[in-house]
Amino acid sequence: MGAAMDDAQPIVTRFAPSPNGAMHLGHAFSAVFAHDLAAQAGGTFLLRIEDIDGARSRPEHADDFRRNLEWLGLEWQEVPAQSTRLKSYEAAARKLLERGLLYPCICTRKEIEEAGAQRGVEGVLYPGTCKGKPVDPSKPAALRLDIDAALCEVGELVWTDEVAGSVVVDLSDFGDAVIVRKDAPASYHLAVTMDDAADGVTLVTRGKDLFNATHIHRVLQELLELPVPHCHHHGLLLDDDGQKLAKSRGSPALSDRRQAGEDGLLLAEKLRLQKLKGDI
Ligand code: GLU
Repeated sequence: MGAAMDDAQPIVTRFAPSPNGAMHLGHAFSAVFAHDLAAQAGGTFLLRIEDIDGARSRPEHADDFRRNLEWLGLEWQEVPAQSTRLKSYEAAARKLLERGLLYPCICTRKEIEEAGAQRGVEGVLYPGTCKGKPVDPSKPAALRLDIDAALCEVGELVWTDEVAGSVVVDLSDFGDAVIVRKDAPASYHLAVTMDDAADGVTLVTRGKDLFNATHIHRVLQELLELPVPHCHHHGLLLDDDGQKLAKSRGSPALSDRRQAGEDGLLLAEKLRLQKLKGDI
């Protein structure tokens, strides 16, 4: 059974960027937020490079994140990147597979979307097409969590969000989540859950856009007997049109601002005020 964290232990937070692109303002907010929560409590702020996506991750982006954190005036301890932890993900996935909690799925994203459209469901909620069926072994397969079987094992679960309070696990938006990707030995869900435990993270901070992912992480904590950290899902920085800031929408890369001579310490202060003003 996943163990609750001891409230008296020193706080450990982390910033866990995926080096798939340049660091932008939303990342900077997340980093300052996690850093300050640890610093205010005399705790530890970690940096973990989440480079599980071998095809898209670039070391130069990881370096860009480090340079920008320094420019923002943050101090951190760096823990090993995900690419160095693949064996531990494989071992955990193997155990879940042996317990009958995972099954192979060869569906493509397009097929899942089409199946959803036929049922009038938008997006990529997986309808369980491959569950309980033999799959063509010549096709690349992901491994999905059999949510029904998992919930039978773990029963009703709760997790704690610093803003939302006590949250009951609700997997209705998930379907059978991918635990092992076709092209990597773990999905985001498996890797981040195991890493937060391995790194001793006591307070997971991330944007509200990932709030629902925490339900699946809570189930994995229970199945893998990992400690249960508290969470703090923060609001997202919005651009002038009220849209979430994203690189794809032209939010300037932080390194452009740094190289243009902007004061990083001042920017970090502005981000702190933004939080206090409730602009997010
Ligand atoms: N690597 C994830 C991202 O950049 C981190 C998410 C998390 O903090 O759990 O979105």
